[in-house]
Amino acid sequence: MNDIKERILIIEDDQQISRFINYALELEGYSTKAANNAQNGLSILVTEKIDLVLLDLGLPDFDGLEVIKRIREWSEVPIIVISARDADKEKAIALDLGADDFLTKPFSSVELMARIRVAFRHVQRKSALDPRTIFSIGELTLDMEKRLLYRGKEELHLTPLEYQLIIYLFKNIGKVITNQTLLSEIWGHGYGSDTQVLRTLMAGLRRKIEDNPAKPKYIITEIGVGYRLKDE
Ligand code: CA
Repeated sequence: MNDIKERILIIEDDQQISRFINYALELEGYSTKAANNAQNGLSILVTEKIDLVLLDLGLPDFDGLEVIKRIREWSEVPIIVISARDADKEKAIALDLGADDFLTKPFSSVELMARIRVAFRHVQRKSALDPRTIFSIGELTLDMEKRLLYRGKEELHLTPLEYQLIIYLFKNIGKVITNQTLLSEIWGHGYGSDTQVLRTLMAGLRRKIEDNPAKPKYIITEIGVGYRLKDE
């Protein structure tokens, strides 16, 4: 067991939510810091070692989106945004500005911990420069080197764009990826925001990998935001 506790900074002005998060994190063995506005949060971040930030978007002094921009000018610390329901557009902007994931209020401590584990696993993979070329979830196995995707023992025949899509999702397994990011990763910048082409591509891929494309178990739609390849 390693006993170096990861330090998590909570920037949230709602005291009740802040205390709930704090309690849940300490139960899991994380060490915590809390700030009730953006200014405080940023000053803790520059003076102390912080491994992950939980950021509420509605803060009293300035906008949470502005906080993400400022943090990303100098730090790659994982940021998980906490946002209100019905704030899909805001969530997508937050992710495109460099946030790693989001939680929608109200959320359970189980969801909170799952998001945090995904974010930390990503940091580890990035720093280890993951040498693996074979990835699997459920019945799916992706061989990145040979560019082959299997469902059980059956080899699936994907189009080049479907490969690009599934490879990108596997590289970011567990994380939500915005429509905008997927569009520019797959079609390149300048493709604009034509999410219809993405939906069509996704539908084709789901027909090949899902038992029931209408109730996908691998690629989950985050309504109004993007998609997430489930990691468990
Ligand atoms: Ca708030």
